[in-house]
Amino acid sequence: MVSVVSETPSTPDTPLTPLIELQGIRKRYGGRAARGEAQPPEVEVLHGIDLAIHAGEYVAIMGASGSGKSTLMHVLGCLDRPSDGVYRFNGHDVATLDADELAWLRREAFGFVFQGYHLIATESARENVEVPAIYAGLSEAARTARSTALLTRLGLADKQHNRPNQLSGGQQQRVSIARALMNGGQIILADEPTGALDTKSGADVMRLLRELADAGHTLIVITHDRNVAAQARRVIEIRDGRIVGDTGAGASAGAGAGVRSAAGSASDPSATHTTAAPAHPALAVPDIAHARTQGHTGASLWADLREAARTAWRGMRLNRSRTGLTLLGIVIGVASVIVMLAVGEGARQKVVAELGTMGTTIMYLGSRPPSTGGPRGILTEDDLEAVRALPEIGHVMPVIGDPITVRYGRADKQMYVMAASHIMPKVHHWQVAQGRYYTDAEDRDLAPVAVIGSKTHAHFFPDDPNPLGRQLLIGNSPFEIIGVMQERGADSGAQDYDDMVFIPYDSGRARVYQAQTEPDYVVVEAASSDLVQAAETAMKNVLRARHGREDFGVGNAAARLQAEAATRSAMTMMLGLIAAVSLVVGGIGVMNVMLMTVRERTREIGIRMATGARQRDILRQFLTEATLLTFVGGTIGVVAGLAIGTVLRLSGVPVVFAVSAMAGAFLCAVATGLIFGYMPAKTAARLDPVVALAGE
Ligand code: ADP
Ligand code: MG
Repeated sequence: MVSVVSETPSTPDTPLTPLIELQGIRKRYGGRAARGEAQPPEVEVLHGIDLAIHAGEYVAIMGASGSGKSTLMHVLGCLDRPSDGVYRFNGHDVATLDADELAWLRREAFGFVFQGYHLIATESARENVEVPAIYAGLSEAARTARSTALLTRLGLADKQHNRPNQLSGGQQQRVSIARALMNGGQIILADEPTGALDTKSGADVMRLLRELADAGHTLIVITHDRNVAAQARRVIEIRDGRIVGDTGAGASAGAGAGVRSAAGSASDPSATHTTAAPAHPALAVPDIAHARTQGHTGASLWADLREAARTAWRGMRLNRSRTGLTLLGIVIGVASVIVMLAVGEGARQKVVAELGTMGTTIMYLGSRPPSTGGPRGILTEDDLEAVRALPEIGHVMPVIGDPITVRYGRADKQMYVMAASHIMPKVHHWQVAQGRYYTDAEDRDLAPVAVIGSKTHAHFFPDDPNPLGRQLLIGNSPFEIIGVMQERGADSGAQDYDDMVFIPYDSGRARVYQAQTEPDYVVVEAASSDLVQAAETAMKNVLRARHGREDFGVGNAAARLQAEAATRSAMTMMLGLIAAVSLVVGGIGVMNVMLMTVRERTREIGIRMATGARQRDILRQFLTEATLLTFVGGTIGVVAGLAIGTVLRLSGVPVVFAVSAMAGAFLCAVATGLIFGYMPAKTAARLDPVVALAGE
């Protein structure tokens, strides 16, 4: 069984040092303009409060509404800083403590009970009770044992897993008392603890407080109700920010039981500085010296992160629609970047692949009538020699090609028979799959040899994997098949190269195309891909000089494809831009939700700070939430992008995924989430706890 009072043995304090000592405390509001508003007039709410409270006292601070009781309590509980005056806690000036040390003090020394309970709505009763212990770094097992013991003692054993909205007011107030006791609660500060309760629940709560006082806790209860105040052992009356009555500490402090002052009867302010007996032995007053060291340490990083991840996960689950919308924003952003870039890149690579099969250096030269009229020119062997001699030109390959009846056995078919020199495979970046290509010597010797395309193979020899050595009848001449070309696939051009028969140029002229005096067209290869334009110009100049007129035409497929590739790159860029815009829009969505989340949860931040969270704890929590959200969203986005891309690919759209696009989109989403999760949380964590508590 865990004791609900502190287990640490007490170190006797100097009896003369009051636990809490206020000197000339003033609190002013206003005077500083809030953003976008006119400067409000400065009002002083506390006009110089002098007060000493000793360990073990049960004090009621009584006054009418608006007299400054809550303000005083916020100062006492280090939730707010006074504008003026000195606050000594156990002899130490609180003004010298930094934010983390104040958090430590709130965590170790104080337990707050508020009129409005201030429970975290998304957490269960037990989790609410455990919040202060989390920030104190208590292990999960110890935490659970203690919170269960506390709730059981307060009669809430069966309500541990209820959330605040599933509890009555009286039950919520008991949960908040349990929370105040979680870290020891040496000093319980209760602001109108019964204010929102019915008579019966109010009486229950007061009985509980009474028991705590008897157990040695220092109690400061704020109330406007004389009957409530009458239960304390000392009553301090406050009116318009001044102490107007004090039944005195001397008679009551440390006595432990029985000494109860009649409310309002005594009014000797000088009595506030009488000495008091030491605190109850079971209740050690936290030594502020520890704040210096322990204020800056907390639970282990690992436990902190686990706790933050748990809270984050719960937050996401409880706000399903909001989480869903944020996720949707991230998912759409990330997925669209991935898909659009993949489609753009697919289109670009398709053109590049075409360039590869067509050759990036190939032009087509043919004769034609000049645009000014007159007969078409004739491309002679000498013309081709002159072109071949140009430094910008690589190969020059004249071609004769026509559909001709090709026979094998009883099968025949009209087929395009291309007569070209032995360099054809080189010019077209193509290779032989079976057998070999014909040689220059065979061409000169007018050898009757042929190489066939893969479809020609399939047409004439569907069952014969090896047609080498067979005789095809082309026109009326027999040709021996010596090779089969590799499958080339669909070209962007009109002709299907796989459906052809290739024969040597000179044998073709001698045996098939006897009537032909000049090539049908000439394939001209530039020396390199960046010389295509120069080669075209040089070739035109030479031919124009030789013919005296432009009776020829040049088809520059390479230049056309290069231009197309450039267009596709531009398209990819544009798609990328659109995708980036959608990512930004998604990011703004995330940003908006993060801002709303923090806004919405300012009060939760206030509660957490009041129970001892340091700024860093708050930041860590929100960062973890943002990280979790964006990682989940980013991952779903990547998966969705891949899925959409795969569907597109299956339906025939060329799609090429880029890992860099995926990583980039993912990281952008995470970065947006982190930045916009972090910034507002940082602002909220900097607030004074009172301001955050008043939020929402
Ligand atoms: P009580 O708790 O005794 O009812 P409070 O301490 O809440 O009174 O408030 C005392 C006075 O201070 C009231 O007149 C109230 O209007 C004013 N006050 C409290 N908080 C603020 C604030 N943040 N800004 C300006 N005035 C405030
Ligand atoms: Mg109040």
